[in-house]
Formats: sequence, structure tokens, C-alpha cells
Amino acid sequence: MSVSRRSILAGGLAAPLVARGLATVGAGVGALASRTPARAAEAAHRLTLGDSEVTILTDGGLLLPASTLASNVDEGKRSAFLTSHGHDAEIRASALNVALIRKGDALVLVDTGAGLNFFQDAGLLTDSFDAAGLDRDSVTHVVLTHGHPDHVWGVIDDFDESERFPNAKYLMGAAEWDFWMNPDFLADNPEELHSFALGAQRNLGAVAEKVERVGADHAVVSGVTMISTPGHTPGHMSVLIEDGGEQLLITGDALTHPSVSFERPDWQPTTDQLPELAVKTRRTLLDRAATDGLLLVGYHLPWPGVGRAVAKDGAWRYVAEG
Ligand SMILES: [Zn+2]
Repeated sequence: MSVSRRSILAGGLAAPLVARGLATVGAGVGALASRTPARAAEAAHRLTLGDSEVTILTDGGLLLPASTLASNVDEGKRSAFLTSHGHDAEIRASALNVALIRKGDALVLVDTGAGLNFFQDAGLLTDSFDAAGLDRDSVTHVVLTHGHPDHVWGVIDDFDESERFPNAKYLMGAAEWDFWMNPDFLADNPEELHSFALGAQRNLGAVAEKVERVGADHAVVSGVTMISTPGHTPGHMSVLIEDGGEQLLITGDALTHPSVSFERPDWQPTTDQLPELAVKTRRTLLDRAATDGLLLVGYHLPWPGVGRAVAKDGAWRYVAEG
């Protein structure tokens, strides 16, 4: 399905999903949208932290209406802020940066991308693995930050429902798993979440026997820890790498925009399911990141999504690195 920018602005085909803010359009989002392996190879970004090697791979990109950035701010104020920070006032371009951590014998993937059923410009992760010379069979752990489509719909292959990472065990926050896998989900939750839940149940259900439901501060392997960052979803978790005297935090969707999330952390994106808790988590996380000098990797921050938070005027500023 190809949906034009025009139709999304007019509330066309994508309107039901726009309600929760996770809609996109078929139009390209530059190099990230390319399905060619050559482009994906260029987009593999590597960094090291002590003995840990982190590779960022693209799963493509999403385009969302800018209105998804703040449900509690009027349009004029939002547009002025975005324009003054060099962003489009109507369309929010969102990257899909998937982190792969190599630590000793472990190869830990954080989220699986969107697969091919979500939107046209997403689902490039398997191409990116191939282009970077990486083998999906060698992934030992898959950490799922949360159950939204762009993070878990890549668990299984959309054609034959085979596992894309067949030798991996899975880890997900227990609260997050329980929320999406609730057998009474459709009765218990609003309709705009139903398609998300059906996709989550299809993908997560396929690997259910390999999933470990974990609590806060769970060590995936030595030096790689899942920490609780709820609000975007009920059981959202981030991944902290500590190695060589440095810390790197893979934030999942606790931070989603390079200007709004950092400089206006109280703005409530429509994609946050528990908006007030998300604000609280965001502020705590940014304070820690700035105070401790954490390197951040944001799933939706501009490619490759690597940067730091610097305190500024009672909020923060995003400084991209790499
Ligand atoms: Zn996301």
C-alpha cells in the first residue's frame, strides 16, 4: 500500500493509525528508505565501549504527522518550535536504528525492526544484516524494549512465519509481555491498539517458549543490563551497557525526537501510552544521562541515533555523535 503525503495530511488511508501516532506514508525518507543492500551497508555504524562492540543497523524509516509529537501543545506553538529547530512543521521523519551488541560470545540484538507488514519504508533489518556481513543465525539474545509494531513485528518472517533469529533467546519486561499477551486484550483496551496487539501476539506468540519475562535491572550478559523506563508503554525497558569505564544507554522509545524529547520533555507525544509516566521517565533518564555523561542510542533519533544529553535552561539539548 502506498499512501501519499497528501493523503496522510488529509487524514486519508492512514487515519486510524494516526490516532495513536504510529502511522507513516509510502513516500521515501531519503537514504534510510532504500531497500538496496549497498545503502544498508553504508548505514551500518560501529562503535566500541571497552570490550563491547555496538553496531547500529537500519530498519528503514517512518514518516509521521508532526502532530504526534505533542498532544498537550497547540499547533502554532508546536510548529514554531519545530521550524526554529530546522524540522518540517507537518511531517516528522523518524529513523529506525537497531542496535546489535557483541560482548564476548554473546550477540545481543535490541529490537527486531518492523518486518514487512507495518509500512513500506520499514523492514530493512535483514537486508542490513546481510550487507554488513552479519549472520542472523549467530544472534544469541534478542531484547525487546516494548511491544509496538516497529520493534517486534520483525520477530518472524512475514512469508513463512519462520523465526528471523532462530538461535536466540528472547528477553522482555514482564509487565510489557503481560500487557500485550493478555488474552482479553481486545475487551480490555481501546480499538486503536487492537491491530498492534494482534501483531504483537502473532510475533511474540511464535517464540513464546524462548521468551524470558524479566524485571528491572536484569543482566542479559555481564555488563549489559535491562533497566525499567516505563510510560511509552506500560513495561518499556532500555538497555544499559557498562564497559571500559563508560556507559551507553539504548533508550528504545523513552526518547524519540532530537529536539522535542530533549528540549521539551514535558510535551506528550501521542505515541506514549501513559503520557505522564513517560514525562517522568524522560526527565529522570535525561538527568542521569547528562549528569553521568552517558552515550545514548535512540531508536528513532536521526541516523545513527548516537549522541549525548547536555543540560540547558532547565531541560536538555541533544548533541549527536558519530
Ligand atoms: Zn518505536
